[in-house]
Amino acid sequence: MHRSQDRLPEHKQSHALGSSLTTYRGRFAPSPSGPLHFGSLVAALASYLDAKANQGQWLVRMEDIDTPRVISGAADAILTTLDSYGLHWDGEVVYQSQRHNLYQDILASLIGKQHVYACTCTRKQIKARGGSYDNHCRVANHQFDSNALRLKQNYPIFEFQDDLQGQVHIPKDIACEDYIVKRRDGLFAYQLVVVVDDHQQGITHVVRGADLLEPTARQLSLFKQLNYTAPHFMHVPLAVATAGFKLSKQNHAPAIDNNKPLPALVAALKFLGFNLSHVHFDNVGTLLEWAVSQYHISLLPNNKEIQVIQQDSEHYEFTPL
Ligand SMILES: [Zn+2]
Repeated sequence: MHRSQDRLPEHKQSHALGSSLTTYRGRFAPSPSGPLHFGSLVAALASYLDAKANQGQWLVRMEDIDTPRVISGAADAILTTLDSYGLHWDGEVVYQSQRHNLYQDILASLIGKQHVYACTCTRKQIKARGGSYDNHCRVANHQFDSNALRLKQNYPIFEFQDDLQGQVHIPKDIACEDYIVKRRDGLFAYQLVVVVDDHQQGITHVVRGADLLEPTARQLSLFKQLNYTAPHFMHVPLAVATAGFKLSKQNHAPAIDNNKPLPALVAALKFLGFNLSHVHFDNVGTLLEWAVSQYHISLLPNNKEIQVIQQDSEHYEFTPL
């Protein structure tokens, strides 16, 4: 049901110079901490369209590593929703919760090379010393058991090129921070698993919300540390309830409607810059086919946030911030 595999005209080829049409692999990586809301639909749709317009594969990965936040049944509900919105993924869904051995192996290799140390600092202590972590425990030789583990920042990234946001500058304290790779509670940290997964899954293009712009610098530094090739990054505007607050369960963003996907899908396309004033579709399959054929990076707004004012499951308004 997807569009034909014909070569797209020159101007609609991959937004990233040098990437090959045949090897594009994108992904959507939701956390199963609740049902999909409009903000997650925008992120899913942006990565889907970029992948499909570049004749790429679009994978889904469940970021269920942060087990205290995982809601039972949410992963299946997310997949059901993606299906009912016509966002069909390629290959098997990957679950981070089933990949502990992989993450442990990578962590062990970093520990073996003495790139990792244990940190006993509490959030309160870090705050009292200025707010961002000052690599305080690097030389302290704390024992690894039941402490957070930090990676020595050997490859600080002070700026990088985002395919939509352009040159991104990273504050020095963030770029140089020895960030956590394994938490005090024993869970692998997001920064570690996301890089290992993107590498292991052969992801070439990451398209996601702009709330992850700064963490990208840490991920790029870890790609270097592990000697992996980093994917292209493109950060689309984040759907927010008010400036600085993304749509979320906390601010009561409603779940999108599986039984009536068209209004939210049309709204998500408008959010991403599509002009739908002269088109009408009565099913998600043809709407998505049209969107893939029309997609181009130049459509996308390059704001970091767009405010969503949602009256109900069918009416959305947007205010650029
Ligand atoms: Zn410390």
